Formats: sequence, structure tokens, C-alpha cells
Amino acid sequence: MQLATIGMGSNLGDRETTLREAILWLGAGCGNRLRSCSSLYETEPFGKTDQGWFLNCVIQIETSLDLLGFFNLLQEGEARFGRIRRERWGPRTLDLDLLFFGDAVYSDSELTVPHPGVANRRFVLEPLCEVAPDFVHPSLGETARTLLGQLAESSRVVCLGSPPVVQP
Ligand code: ADP
Ligand code: MG
Repeated sequence: MQLATIGMGSNLGDRETTLREAILWLGAGCGNRLRSCSSLYETEPFGKTDQGWFLNCVIQIETSLDLLGFFNLLQEGEARFGRIRRERWGPRTLDLDLLFFGDAVYSDSELTVPHPGVANRRFVLEPLCEVAPDFVHPSLGETARTLLGQLAESSRVVCLGSPPVVQP
């Protein structure tokens, strides 16, 4: 079994319902089990700022799939929950980023793990610190807590205080 850490985001449609349904769908897949789920965070768009605020959260799923199998599942989830545009950093009903897959370090033309944005995105590090503050980034060798402490990026991230699904 591997522990996959996923960063989720939505800024179109019924954001909370989309996140909740996607979490339940991912955790119900054959060989998958939801281990933890952060609170919801409302966050200022990063990079491309002329769009609505996002809801973000971070979840951890124990899986018997391998890295590429799990990434395929995330892509299927994005398609299933109706991602509308593929514009980089643009509005989307669901964004599923594979932040970590155990301590795997991997890169090909479609997938880089750990996700290259982890260390410089507040909307990832704040919820990550809620579920796994002591997780050591496999290539940077620093904990999530340390990375958040070192973060210079100051976009607004507001914790809404309730997880989108009942904690497992
Ligand atoms: P962002 O990286 O900000 O989430 P996008 O979601 O628009 O931006 O990027 C999507 C592309 O990123 C996908 O085509 C996917 O192949 C690629 N990608 C590379 N590594 C990862 C990863 N670890 N998780 C999710 N997508 C990834
Ligand atoms: Mg993405």
C-alpha cells in the first residue's frame, strides 16, 4: 500500500459539493481508502487572478494502485467531475494534483512527483500542514511545517474550519 497526498481545488459551480463528491469517489475506488481530509480553505486565485476564489483542501488516500495507475485515476476524476477548461491556472470545476505518492520522486512528460508547486503555494501548504505537518518532502528533505514557515508567497488563504466530508 502507498499513501497518496492529493491537493484539490475548485472555483466553478458548486465548489463544495464537487470536492465532497470527488473525495467520496476517490476513497471508494477499488483498493483505495480515505485516510485524512483537511478543512476547506477559500483561497485567492494564484497566477491568473481575474477569476473567482477557489475552495481547496488536501486529502490522503491509502491505495494499492501504483503511481501511474493512481495518476490515471486522478485524471479520470477531473474528467468525471466536469473540468471545463484546460487553460493553465484558469477556472476549473475540479483540479486534482498529486502532491506526493509515498516518497516517490518521478518525472515524465505528463507527471512530476512531488508536484513542483508544493513548496511555493500557500493554498497547498496550509491544508497539507493540517493533515501531515511532519511529512518530509522527498526531494527537498524538509517537513511541510518547515516549508510553510519558509514561504514568502502571501496570497490570501482563509480556513473555513470544516472538512468537506466526515473525518474517516
Ligand atoms: P497546476 O499544475 O497548477 O494544477 P494544471 O492543473 O492546469 O496546473 O496542469 C495540468 C497538467 O499538469 C496536466 O496535464 C498534468 O499532466 C500535469 N501534471 C504534472 N505533474 C502533475 C501532478 N503531480 N499532479 C497533477 N498534474 C500534473
Ligand atoms: Mg492540476
